[in-house]
Amino acid sequence: MTSTALPTTDDLRALARARLRAIGVRVTEGGDLPARTPVTGEHLFGLTAATGDDVEEALAAARTAFLTWRTTPAPRRGDVVRRLGELLREHKGDLADLVTVEAGKIRSEALGEVQEMIDICDFAVGLSRQLYGRTIASERPGHRLAETWHPLGVVGVVSAFNFPVAVWSWNTAVALVCGDTVVWKPSELTPLTALACHHLLARAAEETGAPRDVHRLLLGDRAVGELLVDDPRVALVSATGSTRMGRAVGPRVAARFGRTLLELGGNNAAIVAPSADLDLAVPSIVFAAAGTAGQRCTTLRRLIVHRDIADALVDRLAAVYGRLPVGSPFDDTTLVGPLISTAALDTMHDALDRVRAQGGKVLAGGNRRLAEAAPAAAYTEPVLVRVDGQTDVVREETFAPILYVLAYDTLDEAIALHNDVPQGLSSSIFTRDQREAEIFLSAAGSDCGIANVNIGTSGAEIGGAFGGEKDTGGGRESGSDAWKAYMRAATNTVNYSGALTLAQGVSFL
Ligand code: NAD
Repeated sequence: MTSTALPTTDDLRALARARLRAIGVRVTEGGDLPARTPVTGEHLFGLTAATGDDVEEALAAARTAFLTWRTTPAPRRGDVVRRLGELLREHKGDLADLVTVEAGKIRSEALGEVQEMIDICDFAVGLSRQLYGRTIASERPGHRLAETWHPLGVVGVVSAFNFPVAVWSWNTAVALVCGDTVVWKPSELTPLTALACHHLLARAAEETGAPRDVHRLLLGDRAVGELLVDDPRVALVSATGSTRMGRAVGPRVAARFGRTLLELGGNNAAIVAPSADLDLAVPSIVFAAAGTAGQRCTTLRRLIVHRDIADALVDRLAAVYGRLPVGSPFDDTTLVGPLISTAALDTMHDALDRVRAQGGKVLAGGNRRLAEAAPAAAYTEPVLVRVDGQTDVVREETFAPILYVLAYDTLDEAIALHNDVPQGLSSSIFTRDQREAEIFLSAAGSDCGIANVNIGTSGAEIGGAFGGEKDTGGGRESGSDAWKAYMRAATNTVNYSGALTLAQGVSFL
């Protein structure tokens, strides 16, 4: 099914300009950094990328602002984030339209992404009064032992195209209340949403009296990111993107003993047990696998189904896949918008060719759509592929809507298959058997940072910590105590006894 006609690139350009203007951003055109839209695949604006001098100036300014910001009381630091949250509420529709223009998300997912920003602002404002350290029992009389959390410094945020604004907000809202300043290098594929967010935060800073340079934006490609990665003034590099990017960034930051928070690729799986409620499982699986056109780090990519129900489940999924509306993300009936680029579509087709050569059978989907109407765009039907084993292509993350289906006989085998990939981000089990659910959540179960029961792999709430293990990079962002990555802990021992008592019973002098 293809939903109605696409907007023209001129319409999209006018829409982007209007939404940016409503937010207060005027686009200066004529630069060499292209802003494109995946909706038609065409060029919108020529923006200007940051130069090496711009990076130097931004880092110096952010470092200077940090010296003031770190001693601003944390609840006062929360004021700027509270104001940002208000501005995001006010401009929710404007920002969502920009997300759709630039990342191709359908309207409800674009609104959901902005809602996620609002939610993390609320969370961070509360956090600004809860940056708790512990008091620890001292072994010495008349001594107090405590842990204090201090701001870290400048945080360099490098973000991916597929969550162009939410990932920034997870990092920035929390980093700001923790007393850090932020320099952001967004994906080169999504500069417009970045300009909008930066402008709203600059306004929030001005209105709440925060230093102007608590946040700086640097547009550009990986070369700009590399300058942040290598600069010792950047205390923490929080980088979200492919595992390939993380492999380049991690060792470079480690070489200067900087800190990293890496949020990298996933290859997420769900196990469907014989007792699963299939009426619940089918829509959960389809949203997780085909939603966002398969371009979430938490997208469901592998379905591990008990052999007794595999054929029945696959038939039901194939029927739904056959009628998923693919088309303009501005059309309310569309569920699957475009891939980010035709290069992403080529990568998808390459993976499908390889999996066919490895014995995989395409059960539904996979055809390109709207190629005549928009040859530069990349619309595709999500695809369902039955495979006998976990071949190399199944073990890779292909950032497109391909769902590989495998059959299993025992839960041990299902968990072994589940964990036998390099990545470790999100996972789930569909079962009504509590024992199976608990095994899946136990230390002997899923090896991922996110493990769910009777819910898909994608669509996490901000209250929990978000991130994954192994090739996913090990970072944790957003809720729970992820804030600790943005601060440094100091252990304080205070002697109020008037006598010198050495630890471990040591005597000296
Ligand atoms: P990407 O790796 O191509 O780019 C991500 C960002 O890193 C961009 O801003 C890019 O300019 C920058 N970059 C690339 N190489 C760099 C280098 N050597 N030094 C410094 N910066 C560099 O990723 P993408 O295509 O934009 O996003 C898709 C990928 O991101 C997928 O693998 C997806 O799973 C992953 N992702 C992960 C999470 C998560 O939280 N785990 C969230 C969103 C996306």
